[in-house]
Amino acid sequence: MWQQTFRVPNLSTSSNIIHRLSKIFQPKHVIPVNAQIKNKEITSKSQRLMLELGIIRQASPGSFHFLPLGLRALEKLIRLVDLEMSRIGAQKVMFPTLTNAKLWESTGRLDDIGPELFRLKDRHQHTYILSPTHEEAAAELLASISQISYKDLPLRLYQTTSKYRDEMKPRFGLMRGRQFMMKDLYTFDTDLETAQETYNEVCESYDNIFKKIGINFVKALGTCGAMGGSLSHEYHYRTDIGEDQLLRCLDCGYSANVQHSGNEKCGNCGNSNNLQINRGIEVGHTFLLGDKYSKPLKAFFLTQENKPNVLQMGSYGLGLSRIIAAAVEVLSSEHEIRWPRILAPYTVVIIPPKEGSKEEPHTLQIPEKLYSLLESAHPLEDNVVLDDRKHMTIGKRLLDARRVGYPYIIVIGTRAKEDPPIFELNDIEENKQLFLNESDLLIYL
Ligand code: ATP
Ligand code: MG
Ligand code: MG
Ligand code: MG
Repeated sequence: MWQQTFRVPNLSTSSNIIHRLSKIFQPKHVIPVNAQIKNKEITSKSQRLMLELGIIRQASPGSFHFLPLGLRALEKLIRLVDLEMSRIGAQKVMFPTLTNAKLWESTGRLDDIGPELFRLKDRHQHTYILSPTHEEAAAELLASISQISYKDLPLRLYQTTSKYRDEMKPRFGLMRGRQFMMKDLYTFDTDLETAQETYNEVCESYDNIFKKIGINFVKALGTCGAMGGSLSHEYHYRTDIGEDQLLRCLDCGYSANVQHSGNEKCGNCGNSNNLQINRGIEVGHTFLLGDKYSKPLKAFFLTQENKPNVLQMGSYGLGLSRIIAAAVEVLSSEHEIRWPRILAPYTVVIIPPKEGSKEEPHTLQIPEKLYSLLESAHPLEDNVVLDDRKHMTIGKRLLDARRVGYPYIIVIGTRAKEDPPIFELNDIEENKQLFLNESDLLIYL
């Protein structure tokens, strides 16, 4: 399943820093088995594992601290998304978190989304929304610029920021939070035809993102709901804890969210025999919006004839923090986290011998030398961590490394005393243990 050909995104520009596990803030959270049964706040495997292993920490229901390892995974996902967005000419921006409630009033969504909106008043009694999404803000930005010309279009603006929703039941950890990370893209075109072309291009780009992550996904015809517009697709990971039901027609391969399409017959071929219903968790959603926001907010451009015309919009969300948790949910066992290789906080962990062991004096220089060698291999730059907690046995550190889910674990054991040294490589995904010298190790990784 790992997409070996894709480069793991690196996060740092300074290459001579050694990442040491003893220095990484990773407070483990011991959750006794009994408490898990009673504890209504732990509602999914990924949430439990990520809490237990110090990847995230809960602050309040539906709101989480991303600790260093969790943030590394999230930042890798953001890099991956940034790269795909730049390929379709989308520019990164940051809209303000606060949106004036008046904008939401003029599009009708103040009532439509109602109870999910976090509202607050400033000292002058003006009402603001802690934005759950930014269609209003994006349309208003364009409306405020009088000189947008057809020559400036298509325009594609996106951000990767926190979103706020007062969810009725925040649960499953990062998967249904009240504050979560979303990547949201807003597109502006001159007419519906070009907006549809943009829509197709963005969907292709989303397909690429999900292929790079490497987990099987379902792309289903979606509901437009309170968002509005004429066409929408949802991207889902299949998991039993998913809160959406997806209909799949085994005759023609068509998929749709049951909430829209019903579960009686296929919305494409009309067949009613060969249907399957699966549970899914929505990880992305695309909308062809038309003028639902640009019209009430007066977001216009100037045509070739210098006449104002309404912009045609699209809106495209990716649940970044949900993708991280849902990936962990799909791939992990009850006791060990598995990450998509491309998102693992570190790709490789090196475990040197225990302090005072008979191997230690013969291998003192090896760990850091091996570390720099791996780091210099381009795809691994900034993706290697040294488990320097040498007071722990190799066995204990190996178990810990398996639980945290590093895709490759290198043990500097007895055979590292040989000349040239031989290393034990544990390829976790392939469930293989190999004994390799330095150069074979580099070729393998
Ligand atoms: P859901 O059906 O799960 O409530 P949604 O349809 O309300 O999601 P959208 O408005 O389409 O969500 O937002 C875009 C993306 O943001 C979703 O596809 C999902 O991946 C993510 N997302 C939505 N709500 C949450 C949440 N409460 N916590 C984490 N991610 C979320
Ligand atoms: Mg929702
Ligand atoms: Mg939905
Ligand atoms: Mg949605």
